[in-house]
Amino acid sequence: MQKTKDLEIYIHIPFCIKKCSYCDFLSFPSSSKLQESYLSTLKKEIKAFPYHEEYRVITVFFGGGTPSVLDAKWITEIMELVRSQFHLEPEAEVSLECNPGTVDAEKLSSYRRAGINRLSIGLQSADDRELGLLGRIHTWKDFERTYELARREGFDNINIDLMSALPGQTPDSWEQTIRCVLEKKPEHISAYSLIIEEGTPFYHRYAEDVKRRDRGEQPEYLPSEEEERRMYVRTETLLAEAGMHRYEISNYALPGYECRHNKGYWQGTDYVGFGLGASSLLRGVRCQNTEKMEAYQNDGFLNKKREILSVEEQMEEFMFLGLRMIRGVSMADFARRFGKSMDEVYGDVLKRQMELGLLQKKEGQVYLTPRGIDLSNCVMAEFLLSV
Ligand code: SF4
Repeated sequence: MQKTKDLEIYIHIPFCIKKCSYCDFLSFPSSSKLQESYLSTLKKEIKAFPYHEEYRVITVFFGGGTPSVLDAKWITEIMELVRSQFHLEPEAEVSLECNPGTVDAEKLSSYRRAGINRLSIGLQSADDRELGLLGRIHTWKDFERTYELARREGFDNINIDLMSALPGQTPDSWEQTIRCVLEKKPEHISAYSLIIEEGTPFYHRYAEDVKRRDRGEQPEYLPSEEEERRMYVRTETLLAEAGMHRYEISNYALPGYECRHNKGYWQGTDYVGFGLGASSLLRGVRCQNTEKMEAYQNDGFLNKKREILSVEEQMEEFMFLGLRMIRGVSMADFARRFGKSMDEVYGDVLKRQMELGLLQKKEGQVYLTPRGIDLSNCVMAEFLLSV
């Protein structure tokens, strides 16, 4: 059978050295014994994937958690397995998330040999006080060491994750973080705002403050809406001055360095997720692995939760995800995929949102205006068909 369809692979490594105070991801500290048994289940799951023959793999992403807490030999073994089981494109983008202080030269060199060609470093802030508050395991100095080692080992495609709207942060201290990071000249920056998630230590500390901010009152610890807005504008201005364009609501890159894995996801490329809690979207079917470690290790990956997406749900997803991209969604792609024009399905919504100045249509693309980006959650909600 000809391998004509593109596939993205996500590999979830749920282990971290210590839980950060704001984190609600599926991640936790673990023993090396658990890591070893997890990896053997992961390998079983990769081997059990039923459609190897139909796809060519264009990206692989090791995410977490902190994949770099693993012994480097595991990453090598998984990559060998992926290569033996799938047709991995020679130019595939292969990313790995790491945290400062969890890699040394030997580990990084082993990643290179395994075929990892993009590193994503979770920095979050250049301010040690903020890092301490977030419960991160590293300092700015640790980050500098990790970054320099990565460059020395030949990584020429590096992302740095940053987080704004932290308690006590001001537009000036945020600007300071961006300036420190830009001095390093990374190829890519992801800049998300802190979200206070239920069930985290931050929720206990700041939930009341979030309510205050939502009511339009001055929060006690968190930046106000106005300050957040100023941070956001400064991010775009400073990064644009450094030649980094914003290609997605929270992602910026030098030309040619947009994350292909995330772009594929936003554009609806089929993807398979391996590992605890990982989700997949294959041929219009969404599947999810159990989030329970014991069940996963008892071959729980064979009984994924499945949901067949209706055509309406697929259309919604096409719009929600695609509109996160600054260039928006292609009307031609929509028509090709669904056999109906975007105007036929969403004509009224498009008209209304364009009249409100939230959406724009140009050269066959529909995209959010700067005001639409500010109000993106409200705009996206308009594209729901199934309510
Ligand atoms: S390192 Fe990342 S995944 Fe791990 S606890 Fe911190 S935020 Fe969560």
